[in-house]
Parts: sequence; structure tokens; C-alpha cells
Amino acid sequence: MSDDIPFDKNLELAPDTVDEVVPGVRRIMANNPGPFTFKGTLSYIIGKGKVAIVDPGPDDQAHIHALLDAVRNETVTHIFVTHTHRDHSPAVPAVQAATGAIVYAEGPHRAARPLHIGEQNPLDASADRDFRPDVALKDGEVVEGGGWTVEAVATPGHTANHMAYALRDKNLLFAGDHVMAWATSIVAPPDGAMSDYMASLQKLAGRGETIYLPGHGPAITDAPRFVNYYILHRKAREASILHRLAKGATDIPTIVRAIYIGIDPRLTGAAGLSVLAHLEDLVARGVVETEGTPAIDGVYRLGRLD
Ligand SMILES: [Zn+2]
Repeated sequence: MSDDIPFDKNLELAPDTVDEVVPGVRRIMANNPGPFTFKGTLSYIIGKGKVAIVDPGPDDQAHIHALLDAVRNETVTHIFVTHTHRDHSPAVPAVQAATGAIVYAEGPHRAARPLHIGEQNPLDASADRDFRPDVALKDGEVVEGGGWTVEAVATPGHTANHMAYALRDKNLLFAGDHVMAWATSIVAPPDGAMSDYMASLQKLAGRGETIYLPGHGPAITDAPRFVNYYILHRKAREASILHRLAKGATDIPTIVRAIYIGIDPRLTGAAGLSVLAHLEDLVARGVVETEGTPAIDGVYRLGRLD
């Protein structure tokens, strides 16, 4: 089902070594490969001399050392955080303590919607709930550094506080986990929300940046085309969920088995949450019906067409 997107999984990058990905931007990959992180989380360094770090990464001593080593004779003035998953923000306190940089992000971790009665948040372990930015950024806010200018681009959906960062005059966006070259982004309730995610994709489609530097995987060099593939993929996934419901499927596990063929078994839970994210959106739009609020173990049917 995902073969409609021209994925790029070419990333020959040794963990914790510095690589200048485009002129003026360096990247260092943490050694945390996995089904959700690909080969590892990427931290970026903007500029030279007076620099900013985007996403210091997981609480991993080797990675923190490599990052600090890369900026040894420079001044880190700013830290930008795209979102508060445990592979992106837990290294912030150590990097801030070593550099005195000011930390910018949309805000602390939060869910996209309140928990339903009796609902457990299946994503609790993935969130960095200790994170607090020094400066909470709003969409469109501009931050000036030593020879670079960054614009905050609110992109909720993967998490409610997801923020991408456009590097002005460089035609470049730090895309976090919102758009990645190697795989689709996971949108899982209650932390993520499909309606927000689609709106954020549409917003990026209306911007001009052609290069995206994501939280995982290689750079995207034809971003507008790639974002369109992402939008089409989501619409196709929604259509196949509706098709399964029309064929008589009523529950999420049945839909997952039908549309995620050949999926890595470690991702089955995430696939179920992704289908739930679509169903939440479809129920909100009146296209699909369920008893009460949409739930992972809910019973679903197509809404009556008036
Ligand atoms: Zn990530």
C-alpha cells in the first residue's frame, strides 16, 4: 500500500559522525536504529561559529558527546526541537547545560485530544514529558541567529506540538517526523490527529521549500512533489478503509489485516492506531459511524447517505 510513494532509503551514514548534508548544515545521526527510527535520529547543526542545533536527540551519551564535539570551537546559541518524542528531545538538558543555548519549541508534550473514559494512552512510553522550552514558538515566528534566520512552521499531526523549521534564504525545511523520505509518518491517537496532519501537509504543499531535512532518513530534494505523494497516499489509505467497511469489515484488526499486507509485525500496533486516526477523522466528518467515541476496539460502519 505504501509503494505509491517513491521512498528513498539510501542513507550511508555512520552513527555519531559529522556530515555536511548541504552547505552550512551538518547532521549527526544517533545510534538508535529501529522500526520507528530507521537508522537513527538525525540532529542538525545550522551555521558556523554561532550555531543552532535542531533536535539534540535521545538521551544517549555517545550521541551527546559527538554533538558537543562537533561544535567544540563554536558557540551554540539556539536549540530547536521539532517534537517531544523520546528519540528527539531528551538530550536537550545535557546539551543546554554544556552550551548555555536557549531552547525553542512549540511547547511541552501534549495529546491532540483528551483521553476517553477508560482509555490508556498506548504512546505514553514514547513521550518526553519532562521537556519544557525556554521560548514557546508560534506558527510563523522568526528567530535570527549568527548568519541564519529560522521560521517556525507549526505542523501538528504526528504530535500536537510538532514544529518544522524553515531556514530562510536556503530553500530548506527541517521537517522533523512530519515528512520523511524513508517511510510514512505515524499518526497515532491520542497524541496524533489525522485532520491536523492532513491540514499540515496541505500547508507545506503551499510553501516553497524544495529541500527537506527530516528527523530520520535521507534528505528530500524534491519536497513539493514528495508532499503531494504523501497527501495522495493518505487519501488512498482513507479510500481503502472505506472500501473495507463497504465490504463488511467492522473492526480495526480486520481492516489492518486487509490493507497492511506484508507489514513488519513490530508495526502492527502502530498500523491499528493509524487506522483509528483515519476513523476518528471519518467519524468527525460523518462519513463513518460508531457507538460513542471512536476507539481502538470499536465497531464501525459506513454512515447513512442522506
Ligand atoms: Zn523521530
